[in-house]
Amino acid sequence: MNIIKRPLGLYKANCYVLVKEGKSLIIDPGFHSKHIIEMVGDSEPIAVLLTHGHCDHVSALDEVCEHYNIPAYLHPLDQELLQLIRRRPSVYKKKMYTNCNDLVTGKLQLGPFEVIVHHTPGHSAGSVCFEIEGHLFSGDTVFKQNVGNTDNYNSNPEDLITSLKYILTLSKDLIIDPGHKESTTLKDEEEFIKNIVG
Ligand SMILES: [Zn+2]
Ligand SMILES: [Zn+2]
Repeated sequence: MNIIKRPLGLYKANCYVLVKEGKSLIIDPGFHSKHIIEMVGDSEPIAVLLTHGHCDHVSALDEVCEHYNIPAYLHPLDQELLQLIRRRPSVYKKKMYTNCNDLVTGKLQLGPFEVIVHHTPGHSAGSVCFEIEGHLFSGDTVFKQNVGNTDNYNSNPEDLITSLKYILTLSKDLIIDPGHKESTTLKDEEEFIKNIVG
């Protein structure tokens, strides 16, 4: 599996394109569909996965899904965020019309990709982490030496603590590919996360 990563938009949210056997998955099409189409190249995209519903991770969703005629997946508890235009900075003022499929916890097979969906609420109610071939695409739940903020609409700090404790139970060999900034490993973040959850 080849991973192409590019920070996009005002908030530099990481968009990931995973390529395997000529097929690709697009995680968090934040902004600038032109760049995402470049990342996809001549692979054949099969789906868009959203770690959560915040504008910096979804704003190119409609263009990308329309361009490739592919489905998108989002946790049901974040579906309403796609409609809350007034909660977005003016630069993101756009109506989202893509109907996302509901993500459920557990295995999701998409072409050659076996995705394990972990529901990790806190930063938002419908935040998830995607585990794919030893990588954990963690959205805004956990970063290198940081965790997601919980002062947004539908955030919950107690849920975030529960989710972080749950992440500590996953394989320490996982490479964490977060929604912002650089990648890390669960092994390297273990101490930091333990200090936060107490
Ligand atoms: Zn977010
Ligand atoms: Zn973000």
